[in-house]
Amino acid sequence: MAVRDILILPDKRLRLKSEPVKAVDRSLRKLVDDMFETMYAAPGIGLAAIQIGVPQRVVTMDLAKKDEPKAPQVFINPEVVWKADERATYEEGCLSIPEYYEEVTRPSAVRVQYLDLAGTPHEIEATGLLATCLQHEIDHTNGVLFIDYISKLKRDMVMKKFKKAAKLGTGKPLSEDKEPSHHIG
Ligand SMILES: [Zn+2]
Repeated sequence: MAVRDILILPDKRLRLKSEPVKAVDRSLRKLVDDMFETMYAAPGIGLAAIQIGVPQRVVTMDLAKKDEPKAPQVFINPEVVWKADERATYEEGCLSIPEYYEEVTRPSAVRVQYLDLAGTPHEIEATGLLATCLQHEIDHTNGVLFIDYISKLKRDMVMKKFKKAAKLGTGKPLSEDKEPSHHIG
């Protein structure tokens, strides 16, 4: 297992549409191991493979609270097959856009189909933080970032800051004076 580098905005690879996983094999399990190690080290509660530069439709997640035992979840080829009409708003953050948080409104519940690490298909209905996190991570597999849902003015400001930071080589342009409430990933 290895902690891998997380791609940071404005890395163009974050805009790639990831390919479906063809076979649940040893190399995929190795990728998933690396994703968990990278996600826990960050720390984050969710990670898509493209965030470590691998354009495959794989998502790892662990929504357990600090005082709870680890609850790792893997979603291979996850796909939203139904969205609720009702909307919910959460403050989101992203490991690829470090230290930037903004409220995002999304469907409050979704049904998602995916494969597990044994290659077995599942369908779940997700609500609350799981629904938000799944939508955030599945967006990553389609090259979509949470800043795509905020105002153009705010998005332009974030892009400008991260482009400048990338030029300076710091990677983290924003100082954070408050504890993040949702470090989504
Ligand atoms: Zn993210």
